[in-house]
Amino acid sequence: MALRLTQRLLQTQTPFLTRGYPMLVTKEKSEDVAHTKSSLQKKVTRTDIPSAQYGGRHAVTMLPGGGIGPELMTYVREIFSYCGAPIDFEVIDIDPSTEGNDDLDYAIMSIKRNGVALKGNIETKSQELSDISRNVAIRNELDLYVNVVHCKSYPGIPARHQDIDVVLIRQNTDGEYAMLEHESVPGIVESMKVVTVENAERVARYAFEYARQNNRKKVTTIHKANIMKLSDGLFLECANRVHKDYPELEHDNMIIDNTCMQAVSKPHQFDVMNMTNLYGTIVSNVLCGLMGGAGLISGRNYGDHYAVFEPGTRNTGTAIAGKNIANPVAMINASIDMLNHLGHKEHANVIYEATYQTICNDAIRTPDLGGNHSSTDVVENILKILSAKRVNWPHGNYFNQL
Ligand code: ATP
Repeated sequence: MALRLTQRLLQTQTPFLTRGYPMLVTKEKSEDVAHTKSSLQKKVTRTDIPSAQYGGRHAVTMLPGGGIGPELMTYVREIFSYCGAPIDFEVIDIDPSTEGNDDLDYAIMSIKRNGVALKGNIETKSQELSDISRNVAIRNELDLYVNVVHCKSYPGIPARHQDIDVVLIRQNTDGEYAMLEHESVPGIVESMKVVTVENAERVARYAFEYARQNNRKKVTTIHKANIMKLSDGLFLECANRVHKDYPELEHDNMIIDNTCMQAVSKPHQFDVMNMTNLYGTIVSNVLCGLMGGAGLISGRNYGDHYAVFEPGTRNTGTAIAGKNIANPVAMINASIDMLNHLGHKEHANVIYEATYQTICNDAIRTPDLGGNHSSTDVVENILKILSAKRVNWPHGNYFNQL
């Protein structure tokens, strides 16, 4: 109790304020949506998530992953150290080509200890049935049952559609990702899609609670219940049942193939979407593609006890690794989500505004956004904006209060 009080005091005394800066775009308060059925209803605070902290600082597991992950993590660390974000990273490299799962076990233990992780995508090279995807294993082992991708357009970024503002809520641990496949007889392969009442209900509840807490109007459940009558039928049935607790919200449903067409032609009709695992990855990739590509939007994975933050489309980007052209914004946004989740709102806001200004106002953009700047140009511009807000360097992390 005394320790928590001291931490709160230290946090409130953080010697800088962002008051007075124009809030260019407000992020939704979704980070504070609670994660269990009971806690969702009580709207408990994030302190229910255990996290290692000392002296107001948080320890966070960093999993750089493969491809562009390590370089993107370098940028995040540079920005954090520049603005004094009170985070200590525990960096764990997972090498999918090593034998055994020691590195994976260690990473999971670290996230359990710290409560929170920032993650790049870990490549799954092997086609061996026994070699599981480490990304899926982390989500399953930590029971990160919901994935949230807030697809919100950045003004001025070349994109097929402007002013998109859709929140995708995805069941994150079972469905088509159950990894239960077998060859029953030579030439016949079966793959199981697993839908459970427990998981379908809690992801639906998360979606409705998110909508309620963020003044959204409608939840659309995405399915293929006309063909997968039992599995998707159950998913839809659970959503309909949970909706009864949220009578003020509209609930409709749409078949996945039509959803993809509607998302491409009329994405503005969607508000909050609730869907199974595979449909979630398809629709989030479609929407991110419509808004500017893989390098912009972040994704959040939540369970009752742990939270993992990563780029929304979960790409490895091996082909562009080491070329200084990867867009750092999605990973920076993931780190901002993480700061918000841990309660470091001032640091989150100041980094968000600097990033926003860099790509929208200053038009410092990597080639995926139609620009001709490098990844480091983007990061340097963010640091330049941060430095204009900082005074008394190098003695502290003080920002102008104007
Ligand atoms: P590889 O990992 O070998 O690139 P891939 O072709 O499946 O495999 P993904 O990692 O899935 O590629 O990424 C999809 C596309 O998005 C690729 O063209 C990749 O270069 C691009 N991409 C992913 N992340 C970023 C980023 N941060 N900035 C710019 N482009 C990106």
